Amino acid sequence: MKHHETDSIIDNQIFTRDKLSYLLGLSNEERDYFLRAVGKRYTALLGTKVFFRGLVEFSNFCTKDCYYCGIRKSNTHTDRYDIDDKAIVEAAVFAHENKYGSLVLQAGERSDKAFTERISKLLQTIKQATNGELGITLSLGEQSAETYQEWFNAGAHRYLLRIESSKPELYYKIHPRDEKHDFDRRLNCLHTLQDTGYQTGTGVMIGLPFQTYEDLADDLLFFKDMNIDMVGMGPYIEHSDTPLYQYRHQLWPLQRRFEVALNMIATLRLLMPDINIAAATALQAIDPMGREKALRYGANVIMPNITPTLHRKDYSLYQNKPCTDEGAEDCANCLSMRVEMAGRQVGFDEWGDSQHYFKRIKKG
Ligand code: SAH
Repeated sequence: MKHHETDSIIDNQIFTRDKLSYLLGLSNEERDYFLRAVGKRYTALLGTKVFFRGLVEFSNFCTKDCYYCGIRKSNTHTDRYDIDDKAIVEAAVFAHENKYGSLVLQAGERSDKAFTERISKLLQTIKQATNGELGITLSLGEQSAETYQEWFNAGAHRYLLRIESSKPELYYKIHPRDEKHDFDRRLNCLHTLQDTGYQTGTGVMIGLPFQTYEDLADDLLFFKDMNIDMVGMGPYIEHSDTPLYQYRHQLWPLQRRFEVALNMIATLRLLMPDINIAAATALQAIDPMGREKALRYGANVIMPNITPTLHRKDYSLYQNKPCTDEGAEDCANCLSMRVEMAGRQVGFDEWGDSQHYFKRIKKG
């Protein structure tokens, strides 16, 4: 009787905004019950395999000025870096040799020609250096349709572009209101990515100032409406060199942001059983076992950081970023052990594509 409401939502699959908000707001014992129920249900459905994506954060030069982000253009306290192509290719070869299956290239946003052409060449070089066997995901922000197409042709097949918040009103509280940070433009980019043929991922930050459970429920419904293939979402963590820092006193405590982030992952897994969900690195900044917990309750992708160590600390989107002083090899060993501890196995040498994508393009 006690867990009646939670059971009834799960069993009858009633995913209205109200019911989703209810699940996102759970705490204490009812929350534990819910997370465990989702964990059980989803492993029965999908098995226990999870996939690695070697993450290379190759540059923190950025032309945008997002109010939450530590590498925003106006932050003069950041040491800017740009890792040379040779070192990026080495990191890709490392991922390939260690059977990671896939690579994610992420950086601050630039869209000048020198940059877009460099990425195309880099993609071709990486494909060649890894016998075309390494899957490549890009996370390089808003670009023109031509650029997305060019990069797709050069070998990228997945793209991550977080909408950050699907509610325009909140979006404009955390971004400048100008042409470079236009909500509709970002949304259009997601459509363009889908039309170009990418497996398309998006996501939001959880626990932003002014954000409510209802907003987060709407974010989940947005992913569903958009027919998205992959989601990466994690807790918002304030950075003292950013404008949003002024609202730090009105945030949920870090621990609560962490809990709600796991509630989001579990609830999304119910809503969209066949998509890929990443265990965001920001989870680990709050709880040392944060990503492993996410794997138990719905996430099936984890992104070992293989950025050459020298620059890791400078890619500080938020403070307290984990693993900034370890080499890539430490991370690989430590991670597969951690994944096993969460009762999961790594799908080595597999791309681990989103099953949802294949169904979507078949229908389309
Ligand atoms: N230039 C790329 C990559 C951005 S960084 C792009 O525009 O998509 C990747 C993600 O880090 C962002 O999408 C954002 O959701 C997250 N991020 C940035 N600052 C953060 C913070 N303070 N706390 C938590 N996540 C943050």
